[in-house]
Amino acid sequence: MKDKLIIFDTTLRDGEQSPGASMTRDEKLRIARQLERMRVDVIEAGFAAASNGDFEAVRSIAEAIKESTVCSLARANEHDIRRAGEAIRPAARGRIHTFIATSPIHMEKKLRMTPDQVVEQAVKAIGWAREYTDDVEFSAEDAGRSEIDFLVRIFEAVIDAGAKTINVPDTVGYNVPEQFAATVRTLIERVPNSDKVVWSVHCHNDLGLAVANSLAAVRTGARQVECTINGLGERAGNASLEEIVMAVRTRADIFPVETGVDTTQIVPASKLVSQVTGYPVQPNKAIVGANAFAHESGIHQDGVLKHRETYEIMRAEDVGWGANKLVLGKLSGRNAFRARLQELGIEIESEEHLNQAFARFKELADRKSEIFDEDLTALMRDEAVTPAPEQYRLVSTRFHSETGETPVAEITLSIGGAEKHARANGSGPVDAAFKAIETVATTGSELLLYSVNAITSGTDAQGEVTVRLSRDGRVMDGQGADTDIIVASAKAYLNALNKLHVGAERLNPQV
Ligand SMILES: [Zn+2]
Repeated sequence: MKDKLIIFDTTLRDGEQSPGASMTRDEKLRIARQLERMRVDVIEAGFAAASNGDFEAVRSIAEAIKESTVCSLARANEHDIRRAGEAIRPAARGRIHTFIATSPIHMEKKLRMTPDQVVEQAVKAIGWAREYTDDVEFSAEDAGRSEIDFLVRIFEAVIDAGAKTINVPDTVGYNVPEQFAATVRTLIERVPNSDKVVWSVHCHNDLGLAVANSLAAVRTGARQVECTINGLGERAGNASLEEIVMAVRTRADIFPVETGVDTTQIVPASKLVSQVTGYPVQPNKAIVGANAFAHESGIHQDGVLKHRETYEIMRAEDVGWGANKLVLGKLSGRNAFRARLQELGIEIESEEHLNQAFARFKELADRKSEIFDEDLTALMRDEAVTPAPEQYRLVSTRFHSETGETPVAEITLSIGGAEKHARANGSGPVDAAFKAIETVATTGSELLLYSVNAITSGTDAQGEVTVRLSRDGRVMDGQGADTDIIVASAKAYLNALNKLHVGAERLNPQV
């Protein structure tokens, strides 16, 4: 009988801290539902004290999710913990995850607390959290650079105070596998009450070792791994859920654990997260990259045809490839459209909203013969996610580009309800469109990132554009999708401007 490896997904919290990857409450809910469908054990839904929006997002997820535990992060102070406790109150199973820094450099420079004060604060934090739930997790922030004696001391104290999960994060992604695994083993051996808790790891990927470090720790006693879909997360990201789950499953001979994850939901989850955040998945990404199961070379293909196991260690269908079937077309009716949206977990608030969305679907179906789930996701994101009231809206566009001539864009925008026209030249039509927008919007935003990705295959595929803008030290990503990539680009630019216009400051804890 194998031990259970608890899969703790933090796409909605740590993943959301990727630059520009902020998600709306509805987007978070959809991802949470997909995580639940995938049978993830714990969903870290957010950091409730970060803002009212974060609080509402955690609470909505706590209300909606029945099978998975719903968790909120909280710093080890009373205010954060009470916000987290209130946010998870509706959950069938709720967890509070509290953390405090334990490395000498963080205690001294950031917290300005002595080690004694840090232990005392951590114990108090567990006490406040237990007023709301028995399921309390404690993280020693920057554990990877903390002194082992101090970790033993603080862990013993918080376990006595009632913590049920002890998380050892490699916050800055500094560890290497053998050494990190040894640290976890030493902690389990030396903390006197270590058998009363589940040991957890949370590894960052700065050296590309997040998955390797996590798996090495599983071999020495960790029974929870914190991870994200597509490895999303701060800087180089977190351990990727799909790699952890498939490594444990494929090498069952090596790992003494099994997960409860329905692996056929992995690729749909990956696509959803990629679309919602605008972070494309690299083609050679393990498990979920477009090439992950493409055996290109002739020798391999021959081998695979003769006997699959010659070259394939996993089956594409086991992780959900091929589930992307043709769903709708030009002749699909309103009911089929509504039913498919429901299956995708997309909420339609009113008949009027459905009519608008259906009209846009028909318009897309005129230009694109086959409509896939990804197209619907993009369509509905354009439809629903733009923050209301929209400050900037695209009314119409005209582009001209011809060999040997300077590209020109003419654009009509609605800015705060008033229509404005502009015309600009650029080095290409996209450049011209952005310049035209700035001519009238005059936001002074700086373009940090521009990327185009085809949502599905075929030349009639929708281009999905991500635009990252910075203004006054704030960074926002905007997304837009259209079969015309210049229109998609303009939409993405305006989406980012709208987010910059309404967005509030958020706290981003480094755990
Ligand atoms: Zn983290």
